[in-house]
Amino acid sequence: MPNILEGKVAIITGATRGIGKAIALRFASEGCDIAFCARHSDLIPDTENALHQLGRKARGYVADVSYMEQAAQFVENVLNDFGHIDILVNNAGITDDSAVKRMTQEQFARVIQVNLGSVFAMTKAIQPVMWKQGFGSIVNMGSVVGIAGNYKQANYAASKAGIIGFSKSCAKEFAARNIRVNVVCPGFIETEMTADIPQELMDTWCSRIPMKRPGTTDEVAQACVFLASDMCPYITSVVLPVCGGMEDA
Ligand code: NAD
Repeated sequence: MPNILEGKVAIITGATRGIGKAIALRFASEGCDIAFCARHSDLIPDTENALHQLGRKARGYVADVSYMEQAAQFVENVLNDFGHIDILVNNAGITDDSAVKRMTQEQFARVIQVNLGSVFAMTKAIQPVMWKQGFGSIVNMGSVVGIAGNYKQANYAASKAGIIGFSKSCAKEFAARNIRVNVVCPGFIETEMTADIPQELMDTWCSRIPMKRPGTTDEVAQACVFLASDMCPYITSVVLPVCGGMEDA
């Protein structure tokens, strides 16, 4: 079977670790050239080297995509360096958890700005490029928390729910130009961040998952490959949970 992303160029935000890095590696192994960003330069060479080892063109850029100007500059640089952009994966995201009664306005606003504002900023920057070429696939990283809500994550849940509404609106606006917009909603995924969680707590969380285990970053990446690829040219405006069957999703 040929590589299903052969010849394509993808932008992936926040790809120096976790789910974003897994998406970059999986896309590259499917034949895709990769432009990615991170807020700091320190981890960029590691990801670039890993992607080069897979035989792909790859370049990391320093950009905080929650700011309109930096997102626009990032897209412009990628276009100059790669010539075209077929796929955008808006993966960058943060959490800053607390109960609503203790949550500050800054805590609320920053999570919305990074998680939802970055999706707006990157979509706005890429839209003219994809519009002009008459095709494109945008995959936005939601969360099951954006569907079901979660304790002490009202800011994060609101940002991820916002991504769903935003994506569905863009899907409608962009469909006539063959630009698809879909959302992947991971459940509980094992990353560097979850490595320090005590086993007892992990077991409690896993007991609520019908598949009785956390997902892997590559399992999220595989869903992104499908939605980004030409395997689903008639799929847009879809919200795809990748969560082992978690009840609320
Ligand atoms: P992570 O913290 O390991 O990685 C997030 C990446 O985004 C990092 O590389 C970080 O530097 C980057 N980033 C953050 N803010 C940025 C900004 N303003 N500009 C540029 N880059 C920025 O997190 P992760 O677990 O890999 O999560 C990746 C995405 O998946 C996030 O959107 C997260 O909300 C979502 N998600 C994760 C889980 C999970 O269980 N890990 C579950 C559901 C959804």
